[in-house]
Amino acid sequence: MLRRSSRATLAALAVAACAQAPATTPAPAPTPGAARTATSSPISATDLRTRLYAYADDSMRGRQAGTIDNIRSTAWIAEQVKRIGLQPAGDDGSWFQDVPLIRRGLVANASLSVDGTPYTLWTDFAPIDLGGETPSIDGVGTVFVGRLADTATMAPSSAGAGKIVIVRAAPGMPIFLAHQRVATRYPKAVAVAFGNQDNIVKQVGLYFGAGQVTLKKDEAPVATKPLLLILGNRLTTALVRGDLETLAAGTPGKAVRGNLGYVETAAPARNVVAILPGTDPALRGEYVALGAHSDHIGVNKHAVDRDSLRAFNQALHRLGAADPFTEIDPARRATIHVDVDSLHRIRPAVMDSINNGADDDGSGSVGLIEIAEAWKNAQGADRPRRSVIFVWHTAEELGLFGSEWFTDHPTIPRDSIVAQVNIDMIGRGSASDIVGGGPRYVELIGPRRLSTEYAHLIERVNAAEPVPFNIDYTFDADGHPENIYCRSDHANYARYGIPVAFFSTGQHSDYHQVSDEPQFIDYDHYASVVRFVWDVARNVANRDARLVVDKPKPDPKAECRQ
Ligand SMILES: [Zn+2]
Repeated sequence: MLRRSSRATLAALAVAACAQAPATTPAPAPTPGAARTATSSPISATDLRTRLYAYADDSMRGRQAGTIDNIRSTAWIAEQVKRIGLQPAGDDGSWFQDVPLIRRGLVANASLSVDGTPYTLWTDFAPIDLGGETPSIDGVGTVFVGRLADTATMAPSSAGAGKIVIVRAAPGMPIFLAHQRVATRYPKAVAVAFGNQDNIVKQVGLYFGAGQVTLKKDEAPVATKPLLLILGNRLTTALVRGDLETLAAGTPGKAVRGNLGYVETAAPARNVVAILPGTDPALRGEYVALGAHSDHIGVNKHAVDRDSLRAFNQALHRLGAADPFTEIDPARRATIHVDVDSLHRIRPAVMDSINNGADDDGSGSVGLIEIAEAWKNAQGADRPRRSVIFVWHTAEELGLFGSEWFTDHPTIPRDSIVAQVNIDMIGRGSASDIVGGGPRYVELIGPRRLSTEYAHLIERVNAAEPVPFNIDYTFDADGHPENIYCRSDHANYARYGIPVAFFSTGQHSDYHQVSDEPQFIDYDHYASVVRFVWDVARNVANRDARLVVDKPKPDPKAECRQ
């Protein structure tokens, strides 16, 4: 599942910095399922375990979209569905639909100097890419325009024209909001630079140093806006003399020389698309779409002691954090004490840098394969009357890009998709993972938002289960702060008026951590959720009439709102 926002990402940087430790090669854990290769038709905990241990193995290196690791993992999925006997439905009769991602990063010779003295990237200064055209900074003058905490005394708008405006940040204000405020006041500035920021320069480098990957848009590039620069103390002093707390607004500084241009290169990414044809000649031109995301968040720059990190995150969870990114009162956070020595008496430190994404979304990716295998081999009334299209979306974690691309450029007519089912993080959900959790716990988000009939169908299917699920609709509430309706791939189907159902077993303390590993999955619970999802999909596929959409269709170009 996609993280809440880039603001949350920046807030999390401080945590990552504390957990740094020397990089070592993690020892591979013994995997009970690894020796097994054969799988069987029925959906089973054993098959899910066998496949998930392979798919969330360290050798997949966290499956990050835009890297060769996502190509490797999508090849693995395609091999599985080929063996099962589905039909390829990607580009030109292949299993894959290429998704044009662009990696954008600073030019190799990025530099900044003052009076002939060069300063060090990610130590003395850190540019944050806002996209679009980037103006030249070579020979541009600087001016200190004041303190954001006291806008009444800031220099007038004209002072910033054609200049790099240096600002004293307001404590605690998120970086992007601060930039927006300053850029609004000085729209003709070349750059907005926050001075004396030694505390975050390096962290910004850790996050933005490798560049950013985005979907290549059909639209024109974003209009030019002032660059965003974070300056360390040494460079700030070289540019403007004096204490930024007391320096007069409008004080001119020295000019800079250098180059902060960006280059764009293609980044490899692809959806896996496969079809199971329907049996009813009158209905097989319609499709039920099933989706999960193949990608995860890759490899961290620094290895951490996995067990002590996990113990800390579990303690955070006991204080009420849904996942490690939930904001918790710092005073309460400070009460957490992890006895690392006692942990290490049980087992030596396991240094780990690979985000295996067993639950996110290894569980959904493998769950779809398991459904495909069961459905392909089904007999009689279990065979699908409508066709089924399986899509393993890429680049979900980078911004739902694979599903955006697929729904903008579907390989079947978009109007022939009668409903979508998305599964992301379905392998957990125990009482220790989530409030209200247990063996029959599942979260459901979305169906009522476009089709009352879809919501009722799922309730009916659940009532007919041997032991019905406790369906948690908490996260489907209008305006819920977690905003989960907009945070996984189903959102891109819903924007075109396709009814969606998103199943998950929820957030937990291993979310987006190196500890999201296959040994922490509850395979029996997981198998029961996969069977339930198949039951729902089969019911949609085999109805006489397609589901009625009785709610207004959104504007596909509008921003998602829950
Ligand atoms: Zn995720």
